[in-house]
Amino acid sequence: MVIVLKRGISPEQKDGLRSFLENRGYQVREIVGKEETIFGAVGSPRVDPREVELLAGVMKVIPISKPFKLASREMKTDDTLVSVGPLKIGGRRIVVIAGPCAVESREQILETAGLARASGAVMLRGGAFKPRSSPYSFQGLGEEGLRYLKEAGEAVGLPVVSEIVSTDHADMMKEYVDVFQIGARNMQNFELLKKVGHIGRPVILKRGLAATIEEWLMAAEYILSQGNDDVILCERGIRTFETFTRNTLDISAIPVIKNLSHLPIIVDPSHATGLREKVPPVGLAAIAAGADGLIVEMHPDPAAALSDGPQTLYPEQFEKLMRDIEALAVVVGKEVTKIPRASGPRPGVVPAVGDGMGEGRLRVSFQGARGAYSESALRGFFQQNPEAAPKKTFDDVFSSVLDGSSDYGIVPMENSLAGSIHENYDLLLRYPDIKIVGETKLRIVHSLMGIPEASLEDIRKVFSHPQGLAQCSRFLDEHPQMEGVPFYDTAGSVAFIAQEKRRDYGAIANEETAKIYGVKVLKTGIETNPLNYTRFFILARSDRKVDETPNRASLVFSTPDTPGSLFRCMGVLAEKRLNMKKLESRPIPGKPWRYMFYVDLEIPDDMDLFHQAVAELKKLSEEGLRVLGMYRV
Ligand code: PEP
Ligand code: MN
Repeated sequence: MVIVLKRGISPEQKDGLRSFLENRGYQVREIVGKEETIFGAVGSPRVDPREVELLAGVMKVIPISKPFKLASREMKTDDTLVSVGPLKIGGRRIVVIAGPCAVESREQILETAGLARASGAVMLRGGAFKPRSSPYSFQGLGEEGLRYLKEAGEAVGLPVVSEIVSTDHADMMKEYVDVFQIGARNMQNFELLKKVGHIGRPVILKRGLAATIEEWLMAAEYILSQGNDDVILCERGIRTFETFTRNTLDISAIPVIKNLSHLPIIVDPSHATGLREKVPPVGLAAIAAGADGLIVEMHPDPAAALSDGPQTLYPEQFEKLMRDIEALAVVVGKEVTKIPRASGPRPGVVPAVGDGMGEGRLRVSFQGARGAYSESALRGFFQQNPEAAPKKTFDDVFSSVLDGSSDYGIVPMENSLAGSIHENYDLLLRYPDIKIVGETKLRIVHSLMGIPEASLEDIRKVFSHPQGLAQCSRFLDEHPQMEGVPFYDTAGSVAFIAQEKRRDYGAIANEETAKIYGVKVLKTGIETNPLNYTRFFILARSDRKVDETPNRASLVFSTPDTPGSLFRCMGVLAEKRLNMKKLESRPIPGKPWRYMFYVDLEIPDDMDLFHQAVAELKKLSEEGLRVLGMYRV
């Protein structure tokens, strides 16, 4: 059962409640969520929930109806993020794991590791004990293979995962792998499940060849019940009557799992299809369906692979898949997890923001009320559940970063439909001690919210920011009984209707406001154009040390009022072969009809070219040039 604790519960009351439950034979877990703290009590004793509800500090008791308890969404409403070193799997991030089916030699795995890393994989896979259908097939290199795998992972700075097939190997494997994989054939090897549960390393639990979703979650329950919370489910296709593909990917398992469980789920399109050309489309479909990542087989020379060659991607195919995932991620409101470019581990380097490494709980300020789109964007960018600090104005966001009351700030810069948010460009100039340290994009999906008693037919007045109203004009035209009323802020308009408690009031905002303000989503996806994206900048004080491997820069400069001056500046970029991503002009404050230019540039691998270009532009520009920030996209 789930016991929701009162906000003000005292430590003594907590201890009392815990002993009460443990004395009756329950295993008790405390789970601290975003909105509430709960005790999860699992076990088979029969205790009347009403008896527990009467205890001090208890708000309510909810029985768990499913046979899997710790794995169930009823137990924990927030998504579980599984940590693998600095990596986080689950939530708003997409992770891609790549590598060969089997480690075949030191050279092969070292080469694959470099290729996987270069294309954006964040973990390296490689089997050392291969459960093959035939005893005559290559069985894997065993411990020697694990040694090579670990060496390759360390060489490129990626954690490694490998399959465990026997409880006897557990202690030995612990020395080599960051994540244990339980293969499809062993999903119901309960001794093995208990063993990896006991070891306490993250586990990728593949779905059995013919396992139901419930059996799969019960297998996860075995691991969780040993005290190991770090389980990543992996759908890898099941046996059906279809024989064209090796297995049949159960794509609907993804949303089903998302509903039943808080655990992250990744997909293995390689074993699901068995055919290399089917791997990218099926992998993309999995991401579209909500998977938290993919595990993909890739080999420098698949034709020569000792196992699973036909389903193994060529490096170029993998690289293309990564680019497609990147494009798709924004559509599903997620970000692809990246590790800064590097040729090897770089001890002592302050990690990139957004990679969830290093620092403790961050404080990030954003403009708007709780639940604003900016808050969703920052939660997508920062992985370590930062404290989101709402601010009234954009200026407040900048000043909180400057005075150190926030570690970072986030501000919208540009919307794909409405264009630039000029105020923030101007603020970047007014705050020379603030720099851009990151960028993130968010797909804007508007929803009509109402109080819990309201239905769509009741709504007469719809409050929202003028942009929100304008972006939903078709929906409003189709519902002529609804009148749009401009409000200063989208999320603020939801707070307003929640407070007014009128059935005829609606608000257009992010659906994440529903939980925060206790309102209901009456209709979602009401924006006229679904291709509605906003680009945000992450801001920090200039003295904050961040990513050392930027690939994008934002600059601002002005040019003399003479013929061809902008042309000459552009010439510098052309000569250095720097790719310009954006050029925008803004009036110079206090100098009517004079303009400055904002430029976003790709930073090439050869950073010198960039620095030379900046030096030359400085000479050409009239009022100087400022680098607003260098960051990774
Ligand atoms: C593998 O990942 O190499 C593997 C054997 O997968 P599965 O257990 O899903 O067949
Ligand atoms: Mn394989």
